[in-house]
Amino acid sequence: MLRKAFSTVAVMVIICAASVSVFAQRGGGRGGAGQTVEKIKMLKPNLYEITGGGANTLIRVTNQGLIVVDTKNPGDDNYNRLMEEIRSVTDQPVKFVINTHHHPDHVGTNQKFIDAGAQVVALEALKTWMGNDPRTKDIPGRPTQTFAKNYTLKLGDAEVRLYSFGRGHTGDDTMVYFPDMKVVMVSDQITDATPIVDFANGGSALEWTKILDGVLGLDFDQAIPGRGDPRKSRQTIWAGSFSRHFMPRSTTNFQKRCKRKAGTQEAQERERNLVPLVLLVFLL
Ligand SMILES: [Zn+2]
Repeated sequence: MLRKAFSTVAVMVIICAASVSVFAQRGGGRGGAGQTVEKIKMLKPNLYEITGGGANTLIRVTNQGLIVVDTKNPGDDNYNRLMEEIRSVTDQPVKFVINTHHHPDHVGTNQKFIDAGAQVVALEALKTWMGNDPRTKDIPGRPTQTFAKNYTLKLGDAEVRLYSFGRGHTGDDTMVYFPDMKVVMVSDQITDATPIVDFANGGSALEWTKILDGVLGLDFDQAIPGRGDPRKSRQTIWAGSFSRHFMPRSTTNFQKRCKRKAGTQEAQERERNLVPLVLLVFLL
């Protein structure tokens, strides 16, 4: 009984958070206009973060070149500032770019990196959503190497594991894990500690917990959000644990009630409409 009560409260809180985010972020994505690219910061030896100018960018230095994760909002200024900061710590060429999802503040300067000789690695689904989303369809720089679900990228002495644990923020979310660093880039999955769901582009509030559960299965001590400073594990683990213990059962029941057909446009529309409705029911 107590467990059921906890479960109900849990689903209320998550759905409330989801509802607020849904209304705040309908259509998904994040702005960032006017933001400037900030100074580069070392997270760990050979791993750096650059905030501003859109979403966070990570730079992994290897003995055979650089791996860059996410490329900020479109614009020459953003690319030039990004490279200026990168060049302040290393002269190595950028060999690979990884995109965590297709939103414009994550893929904006992909083409500049391609022109400079880099490969852009991403989910196949990212290529599709980037081409469909009105905000990104005209941004050049589609991925040059794609994978279906999970992929391990090796460069020099570094290994990066890319995981697609499910749909959450978008339909093409990729968790970027550096096992030797014990760092995972979770991007916009937890940026504001609530689900920010871009339903129009494949996102799912119900599957969001799958991604957190997947992340919790990794050995990490820093989680890098889409914006702001690294989460030093506690907040991330709490959010993930919360979902791990309570949400699967709740979401299963919720899914049954919705008679949801996973992955269909009709199901996504139904989920979008039912989230605030279910919240209302729980509050009454
Ligand atoms: Zn996003």
